[in-house]
Amino acid sequence: MIRRILLPCAAAILAAAGLWYAAAGRNRTTYFLLEGTSLETEVCEIRGKDEGLAVYVVAGIHGDETAGILAAERLKRSRIERGTLYILSTANGYGAENDQRKTEEERDLNRNFPGDPEGWDAERIAAAIYGDIEEKQPAVVLDLHEARAAEVGKDALGDSLICQSLDGIGDMVLELLMQTAFTLYGSPFGEHQPHGHRRTGDSRDHGGDLSRR
Ligand SMILES: [Zn+2]
Repeated sequence: MIRRILLPCAAAILAAAGLWYAAAGRNRTTYFLLEGTSLETEVCEIRGKDEGLAVYVVAGIHGDETAGILAAERLKRSRIERGTLYILSTANGYGAENDQRKTEEERDLNRNFPGDPEGWDAERIAAAIYGDIEEKQPAVVLDLHEARAAEVGKDALGDSLICQSLDGIGDMVLELLMQTAFTLYGSPFGEHQPHGHRRTGDSRDHGGDLSRR
């Protein structure tokens, strides 16, 4: 089972990189999704020297949320001790190049999962990402976003880890929260588990998010 976590800010993923960083040998390759098309996106694959679980990081689903994209670029320089780290960035290349949330066809990529290989551009990108994740079977998917800082009474999820399930990853999430308590902005992350219509479970159930934001 894949457990997805949404990180609205770069700070947490940098902490996550710290968790996995080790002075081990580097084994880094790249491959492409939708290769040769205008929607082409690169996946960086970093392997540790020992066998282990896989972690899949997606950044830039919203092209104007640059914190996640910058964090992904930092992560591509990581070395890991064991397992495999996949870093897909930038998911919405056109959006990133033009500093806009949506795709060239003005679709919100994060509302189009699991996608359709024959559909509009966002559906094609979503299908490629979803298919690659299903093929790689990572233990955790981290979907990096950016948001305003969370404030009481405002509908903003910033500084939040949003986990579809804590089953089996509770210790890791706790470690992430601890790592982010003393970093960039002095604003500790909170942890959310999705509930209700807007933030629940399987993307197929409610409008096709890889995660929510
Ligand atoms: Zn976003």
